[in-house]
Amino acid sequence: MPHLPEHLLTGYRNFMSGRYPAESGRYRSLAREGQAPETMIVACCDSRSAPEAIFDAGPGELFVLRNVGNLVPPYEPDGEYHSTSAALEFAVQSLKVKNIVVMGHGRCGGIRAALDTNSAPLSPGDFIGKWMSLIAPAAETVTSTFMTATERQTALERISIRYSIANLRTFPCVSILEGKGRLTLHGAWFDISTGELWVMNKETGDFERLEME
Ligand SMILES: [Zn+2]
Repeated sequence: MPHLPEHLLTGYRNFMSGRYPAESGRYRSLAREGQAPETMIVACCDSRSAPEAIFDAGPGELFVLRNVGNLVPPYEPDGEYHSTSAALEFAVQSLKVKNIVVMGHGRCGGIRAALDTNSAPLSPGDFIGKWMSLIAPAAETVTSTFMTATERQTALERISIRYSIANLRTFPCVSILEGKGRLTLHGAWFDISTGELWVMNKETGDFERLEME
């Protein structure tokens, strides 16, 4: 008996009887020619914010990196393990993506953890606390007692996107290619409850709700 949860086996059977036959030509050519996605998305691990679903993307279209809180650390070539930076380096230097989108989302547990510094760590090893401390300088900007917890959360979800985009620019490969006009950085925020996508205005940094026609 295959050792996978039943819902995964069911899903896979549906994939093989539905989506795969419809896209088998695409899968075969991707296998033959390799992948060449034009867009990298940095998204949260949250099961409700899957970029492939939100952007209705097929195989080979998006190079997706997901981590807790959709964060990009600054460039730190210190010989340590940097999975996010490795994926970024691969996307930019090897795949030569043209766009990088940092996509946050509403009700993000990682962002909540970054704001909730007084309580005990979410996990015994406190990997989350350490990871989310990356945006501590951003979290310090939403400490006003006049803000509600919800306002603080939404604000940091968006500020941290701008913060990660600033960190992206500390990578020489990113800033050089952006300067040459061969790479564009974008920010987006997905509202899980309504399905709304808010896109960052490049000039002002504000997030504007995408109008549907
Ligand atoms: Zn999240």
